[in-house]
Amino acid sequence: MAKKVHIPVQLIIEHGAIRNFDQTKVYEWLKDSRVLLISGSGKTRTVTEKIENAIGQQASRIEVLSCQNNSLDTINELERQVLEDTPDIIIGIGGGKALDVSKVVGTRSNIPVILFPTAISSDAICSPVAVIKMLNKSTSIGVKMPQAVVIDLDILDSCPPRLMSAGIGDLLSNKTALLDWELAHHAGKEEMNTFSNLMANNAVESFMNVLNHPSPDRSQLMKGAAEALIMSGIAMSIAGSSRPCSGSEHLISHALDYHCGAKALHGEQVAIGVLVAQHLQGKKQEVESLLPYYEKLGLPTHYEDLGYTREEMHRAIRQAPTMRSRYTILNEFTLTDDEIEQILDEVYPQEAKNRYRLTVG
Ligand SMILES: [Zn+2]
Repeated sequence: MAKKVHIPVQLIIEHGAIRNFDQTKVYEWLKDSRVLLISGSGKTRTVTEKIENAIGQQASRIEVLSCQNNSLDTINELERQVLEDTPDIIIGIGGGKALDVSKVVGTRSNIPVILFPTAISSDAICSPVAVIKMLNKSTSIGVKMPQAVVIDLDILDSCPPRLMSAGIGDLLSNKTALLDWELAHHAGKEEMNTFSNLMANNAVESFMNVLNHPSPDRSQLMKGAAEALIMSGIAMSIAGSSRPCSGSEHLISHALDYHCGAKALHGEQVAIGVLVAQHLQGKKQEVESLLPYYEKLGLPTHYEDLGYTREEMHRAIRQAPTMRSRYTILNEFTLTDDEIEQILDEVYPQEAKNRYRLTVG
């Protein structure tokens, strides 16, 4: 039985994407349209102004609403304004929260969404999942895929290296997530979608190829990471869930958020979780070590680099399987406190501290 898969109709990843926007198909869509820009705060406002200027001649009306956070209250308020005066197209501009909020508002009001990510700190830049805050708890919900994604590499260039590093952490997690998915499939807990699996694996492999180039520059890395994160989003769209890109390492990150104060970026926490997932998976079968890539990129290799204590990291590993009902490598062990302590010793040795700085590009 054929399945319908939603992917963005247009994908633009280039330098000067906003400056040259009037030469694109996406620009043509905006002709005589009422356009709502949902903008993140801070530096994103400047990007929003650039986009406003770029589409000023084409749209019949442009309205800008700012989005300070991804809470349900913010989403309800924006949705109320959208329903009172319905635009033809929503453009989401920001690093993460504004993109998630735009996807949710667009889905709930049935309006097509175009995303202009200003950072690539996670695979949310083009995924059928959005994170929203309800009752002080972050929850992932399913949303429609964006119609187009426009990434201006000049904007990413001025973005703090830490954000791209986090995005790459989120990308590398495809490896452990896919192995968890296979374990779930073998345990009879979940169906496997081979095409989605292939796509998510190719996403991370294609980025590793860029990284393995003798001397990749920052621009190649940014483009490679953006393309790979978008492919990950499409793999999720094919699977109909975040499964190909979210396994035990994400459960550990969710536990750090929920039980230990959410002190770091999503992709950074996921990168820390990948090391535990990989360690446990290695006890069951041969797995590729991702550590050389961490060293190459300067990704965090110790929880203390992200501000967590040993006790908090212990708690996160303990609580991870309870974060959602998703079968992973964590279900194949019944870890005692002593065993968790041993994992902490082996996965995060003293010398793993303070390696955290982006070393390439
Ligand atoms: Zn993620």
